[in-house]
Amino acid sequence: MAATRAEKSGHSAETSALAARLRREITGDVLFDPFNRGRYATDASFYQIVPSGVVIPRTMDEALRALSIASDDGRIVTPRGGGTSQSGQTINDGIIIDFSKHLNRVISLDVENRTCVVEPGIVLDDLNRQLRKHGLWFPVDVSTASRATIGGMAGNNSCGGRSLRYGTMRDNTRSMDAALADGSLLHFGELPRDFAQMNSSDRGSDLFRDMLALGAREAVEIGEKFPKVQRRVGGYNLDALVPRNAPNNIAHLLVGSEGTLALTTQVELKLWPVIRNKVLSVCHFGSFYQAMDAAQHLVKLRPIAVELVDRTMLALGREIAMFQPIIATAVRGDPDAVLIVEFAEEDQAENIRRLKQLGELMANLGFGWDHPQRKWGGVVEITEPALQTGIAEFRAAGLNVMMSMKQEGKPVSFVEDCAVPLPHLADYTERLNAIFVRHGTRGTMYAHASEGCLHVRPVLNLKLEKDVKAMRAIAEETFAMVREYKGSHSGEHGDGIVRSEFHEAMFGPRIISDFREVKHRFDPGNVLNPGKIVDAPRMDDRSLFRYPPNYRVSEFKTALDWSAYPGAGGGFQGAVEMCNNNGACRKLEGGVMCPSYRATRDEKDVTRGRANTLRLAISGQLGPDALASDEMAETLKLCVSCKACRHECPVGVDMAKMKIEVLAARAAKHGLSFRDRLVGYLPHYAALASRLAPLANWRNNSPLLRMLFERFAGISARRALPEWRRDVFRSDIDVVGPADGREVVLFADTFNRAYERENLDAALRVLVGGGYRVHIPKPADGGRPLCCGRTFLSAGLVDHARAELDRLVTTYAPFALRGVPIVGLEPSCLLTLRDELLSLRADEPAKSISAHALLFEEFLVREAEAGRLRLPLGPIAGKVLVHGHCHQKSFGVFKSVEQVLRLVPGLDVETIESSCCGMAGAFGYGADTYQTSMDMAELSLLPAVRRADAATLIVADGTSCRHQIKDGAGRGALHVARVLGMSLERARSNPTLSPVAKEPIHG
Ligand SMILES: Cc1cc2nc3c(=O)[nH]c(=O)nc-3n(C[C@H](O)[C@H](O)[C@H](O)COP(=O)(O)OP(=O)(O)OC[C@H]3O[C@@H](n4cnc5c(N)ncnc54)[C@H](O)[C@@H]3O)c2cc1C
Ligand code: SF4
Ligand code: SF4
Repeated sequence: MAATRAEKSGHSAETSALAARLRREITGDVLFDPFNRGRYATDASFYQIVPSGVVIPRTMDEALRALSIASDDGRIVTPRGGGTSQSGQTINDGIIIDFSKHLNRVISLDVENRTCVVEPGIVLDDLNRQLRKHGLWFPVDVSTASRATIGGMAGNNSCGGRSLRYGTMRDNTRSMDAALADGSLLHFGELPRDFAQMNSSDRGSDLFRDMLALGAREAVEIGEKFPKVQRRVGGYNLDALVPRNAPNNIAHLLVGSEGTLALTTQVELKLWPVIRNKVLSVCHFGSFYQAMDAAQHLVKLRPIAVELVDRTMLALGREIAMFQPIIATAVRGDPDAVLIVEFAEEDQAENIRRLKQLGELMANLGFGWDHPQRKWGGVVEITEPALQTGIAEFRAAGLNVMMSMKQEGKPVSFVEDCAVPLPHLADYTERLNAIFVRHGTRGTMYAHASEGCLHVRPVLNLKLEKDVKAMRAIAEETFAMVREYKGSHSGEHGDGIVRSEFHEAMFGPRIISDFREVKHRFDPGNVLNPGKIVDAPRMDDRSLFRYPPNYRVSEFKTALDWSAYPGAGGGFQGAVEMCNNNGACRKLEGGVMCPSYRATRDEKDVTRGRANTLRLAISGQLGPDALASDEMAETLKLCVSCKACRHECPVGVDMAKMKIEVLAARAAKHGLSFRDRLVGYLPHYAALASRLAPLANWRNNSPLLRMLFERFAGISARRALPEWRRDVFRSDIDVVGPADGREVVLFADTFNRAYERENLDAALRVLVGGGYRVHIPKPADGGRPLCCGRTFLSAGLVDHARAELDRLVTTYAPFALRGVPIVGLEPSCLLTLRDELLSLRADEPAKSISAHALLFEEFLVREAEAGRLRLPLGPIAGKVLVHGHCHQKSFGVFKSVEQVLRLVPGLDVETIESSCCGMAGAFGYGADTYQTSMDMAELSLLPAVRRADAATLIVADGTSCRHQIKDGAGRGALHVARVLGMSLERARSNPTLSPVAKEPIHG
């Protein structure tokens, strides 16, 4: 299989010469190895085409140089932004030019005239962050705003959920600068009305005049064949060329051209004032058909969006704890579908007036909440901003739940953005469902009812010929129906490979010939992204699929349990194949995922790039034994195992767990490096190192030893290692606290025990002070202290980790099985008991320990919520700045740190909006990863700590996080147990204070 792909992309001596020339003439990355090419072989469609190579230019000149070198060499060139397209338009053989890493600046901003000029690689959210302070935004709010680039959005003529008011990308593009395949750089914008008569002659003028002539010649045909719906993004925008009273804007021909006509170098955008006031209303319907039929009437009240949520999605939402209260407030009774109608006029009184009108309209249409028997009807008005945000999040998450099916069949995007005129929407959706049923599948519909553009993905397994045939049949029948309604078969996500072959059936042969003429006139050599829009392959050509007919994953043995997923490697294959390339892991702000990508902006260092590499490796497309290869190790090197993807990836791709498999495969094949041994075996030698503390710490104080450690152990000379100490925490206390107190086990992890016993001392004081009876059980085997095995997992020594956990399970099981909570301080250690433990053994004792493992702060919050916490806490006047450990965030338990700190009287608690601290266990100590570690910390954590005044307390529960803060900002940080310990001391020094945490905690 690997050979076939390599031949297809023409990998040869000529390709090496091309790569060499590109490297000589371009300072940006030139990536021609199979691993990198593989990472650029997919977008969010179900296709895969491996390119010959990838160029990541540092400047626009370099991008144009790459175009010229590649076309000199007879290669095709495909521009790329975030690679989130769903139709296969962003992949091709030849050379891919990735604009997203370096070409992402705002070039100019004119606040007064509400315009800006940007480079094509800028991400929409990033642009809007920069505009916000000026009260402006770019409103084409695609769902992929966190990673979609303006170049890609223009390429696809993207549309946001509020296109009813703001229009599509085309409506918001004033002009573009772009390079043709021959290198000529042209400005595309409004043309003077007499342009056709002007006699200037140059490359641009001649081209533009020919285009206007085509528009004039084909005006009637275009008028007849182009659907009259707003959501039409199929084909080239020939209607922009038709003579009219206003000037023609030739840039609008480039919008939606999917990189087939020119490389965009900059885009001038129209900006809008930010929305200041809005109201939402949830309209309830007894049947899906009624909801679809009502959409045409609701839009008359001029909302900015009408979004559909159907029964399936409501049911999915009700199963998710965080959405239950939102649905309970926003949805009443048992509707079959709801339409969420959004009004956003500047004047809030006007929004409220429209809400009232909406209620009347619904009643007039027969959908009032006034029938005693039925469980639907009426309008729930939502004016509270927090609830409005909750509803938006619910809609997004509902789709994610649907996408996260673990079975082989998955919701497939190919008819998902057809648009029909609103009067036909109800009939269209009813007939569409019938088509699905006829082909033995189903699909949930959601999204843009206001534009007649509903998203729907039938569930199919494209590894099976029969499902591919069903897909083709569904596409043909659906598009025929769309044509009947004079709708658009391509209403949002572009043409690519999925849609282009159907243009002829939709637009007719004459328009197709016009499309070809445009392509030929712009790009006679067929250099730019050929095979899209015109002369496309069949959409069901399986040789172009991510899972072609010869796709196989041979059986192999894995170290962890992957049985929740299907496929080889005990399910590892299914887990890897969950990644659908939607690119959410490329977001640059908010949450934690993915810290390494945020630091490097390389596709190699993002969850998606890693998942794709794993898929190619296990299916033999990267040569034999690719899982244990150096390139695979390099692919995962900067993954800090923060587990953010497990939580934040819409389908829960768990790269930290997958990394353990790769490390295990590598350790089995190549053995361990000295550094891996040093890290992995730490629990084994910790006691000895503590006894010999002055000797063991010698390295930190000797520049020579630091240098030797760097050379022979790969530990950065710039890092001080955690200091060993002789007075470690004694974990043989057995039990302490009142005999009648509620029982709790305190897990004294290796790090806090050996390096920072003050945290365990404080936790013990707090627990006993709260009246708990604290067990610190001696290991059942009488040996060295217990450990969670985390360090072994990070070195790929899975059997050693299992052995550590076996000891721990034997010791703790008697407690867990009778319901005693097991409380720990170090997030990564304690949460190993909840997570990896069950991948290593899933027997009852292990399950019980996993179910009873709680972080210190979680335990206290739980106790407080149950009204059981009797902890005397004294005031600490001042501020505390909190940094959350990635694992706390990925398990959704970080909030308890904030909650527990708020129990301390007088303490002002503020959270740092940070991703991973960058230290991540041993990661930050590596000589080869030191710089990335610091880059991660500098993204937000260290600047925030530096800004804090000296009196502010810094709290971080992770040992590594505290080290990073110390190293990078010179500030000591405390475990939350220490702050509570201080507060407890204050209460004791002032016995008139009574326990403060009597009331349950809320919020
Ligand atoms: C889950 C999900 C939700 C989505 N939701 C929406 C939505 O709400 N609305 C919507 O419209 N789309 C949506 N999409 C589709 C897609 O995200 C958007 O079309 C997005 O704008 C593409 O941006 P990108 O940077 O990823 O483009 P890419 O996929 O990288 O590129 C898109 C096209 O533009 C071309 N291109 C890129 N850069 C240039 C350049 N410099 N010069 C010339 N051509 C260029 C490429 O060759 C390609 O043909 C969704 C996709 C997913 C996976
Ligand atoms: S890893 Fe998750 S977030 Fe990233 S592209 Fe894959 S599915 Fe999307
Ligand atoms: S574990 Fe963290 S660093 Fe690794 S891929 Fe997931 S989000 Fe990125």
